Amino acid sequence: MSHPVVFIGAGPGAADLITVRGAQRLAGADVVLFDALTDPALRKLAPRARWIDVGKRGFCDSTGQVAINALLVRHAQSGRLVVRLKGGDPSVFGRLEEELQALAAAGIAAEVVPGVTAAIAASAATQRPLTRRGSGRSVSLTTAMTRSGELQATRTADTEVFYMAGRQLAALGRRLAQAGWPADTPILVVSRAGWPDQLQSDHLMATLAEAAVLHAGRPTVVTVGVGAAPLRQTSQTQGHGLERVPDVAPRPARREPRLQP
Ligand code: SAH
Repeated sequence: MSHPVVFIGAGPGAADLITVRGAQRLAGADVVLFDALTDPALRKLAPRARWIDVGKRGFCDSTGQVAINALLVRHAQSGRLVVRLKGGDPSVFGRLEEELQALAAAGIAAEVVPGVTAAIAASAATQRPLTRRGSGRSVSLTTAMTRSGELQATRTADTEVFYMAGRQLAALGRRLAQAGWPADTPILVVSRAGWPDQLQSDHLMATLAEAAVLHAGRPTVVTVGVGAAPLRQTSQTQGHGLERVPDVAPRPARREPRLQP
């Protein structure tokens, strides 16, 4: 009799961003199949489990996905409690669909524990709310890369957060213009959100190429639109004194992107 396989979202970085439920389920694991992006400090939560790295090269392409599916099924069928630990949230660009289908085909049950996805972590860490009252009513989580490796940009929401565009930020700027985003749209680039060495920089489409150098080689999300704008302080007193209100007015282009550790 096999246990249900538990998919756990590890969150974007620092081990303490996993949920309490995720940490509890992890503590009971016999086997943990984990991705490259998860924090090694998470190992302390399941010190006796066998940890298997499936994020490294060889597991990343579609053949690799088949191998991961097979590993999940094999370990679950051996009666061990298997945890599949994924960066961020398992259901956001996490190949959850394929893995759930493989388990279902083998008659194995699954449970999914959510995690903090990179877009949410970047918003929290930079204090740029993804929705803004009156101006930002919708958020889209979008991958900039198509299945064939082609870069695509869209404009489907007031705030659009692009995943997996880190290597092609210059091209993304051009694609955003083609997708109909105005030239003065605020763009926030955040890499390693939630980690102690997180970096953030502000851009306009014309300066997005500079982000490629600043964030090179780091997992990066690009927030475009209303939710990327910095908040501005207002001295308006409406009962509670100082309030923060969204700055949705177009901002002048900066010569240099602002980089903040
Ligand atoms: N399931 C993950 C996403 C996996 S796809 C989640 O929910 O966050 C991998 C992409 O996620 C990376 O290319 C990058 O765009 C983004 N990403 C993951 N971790 C990140 C982090 N700490 N900071 C910024 N972007 C991150």
